[in-house]
Amino acid sequence: MAEGTFATAINCMDGRTQDCVSSWLKEKHGVDFVDTITEPGADKAVTEGPDWQVNSVQNRVKISVEGHGSNVIAIVGHHDCAGNPVSKEMHLDQVKKAVDILAGWYPRVTVYGVWVGDDWKVQQICEHTPQ
Ligand SMILES: [Zn+2]
Repeated sequence: MAEGTFATAINCMDGRTQDCVSSWLKEKHGVDFVDTITEPGADKAVTEGPDWQVNSVQNRVKISVEGHGSNVIAIVGHHDCAGNPVSKEMHLDQVKKAVDILAGWYPRVTVYGVWVGDDWKVQQICEHTPQ
């Protein structure tokens, strides 16, 4: 097992969303490192992506959870997403659905659904806590 504690971010590839999400996870959970899995429009990728994309995300989450011992995952939707240019309401809906999917993959891991708004600050939308 790698040294240090890890959390997992499933984030957009958008450069504006990296630092804020990483800092939020580090502060909220006191982890040393944040493994980041990026896709254009990560919320859409997990909920509506083709099988190859969902499998690719899942394989990377597995490395973070099983290889690095991460026990917290954040799935991110954000303002002005070029990879998934839908309304905020649609993003929030996709983020919530993505949390359910991720909780199904890893029921013993905490999963946060988060929104990065036009102020580029992280807002928690929902949470799955382990059983
Ligand atoms: Zn985006």
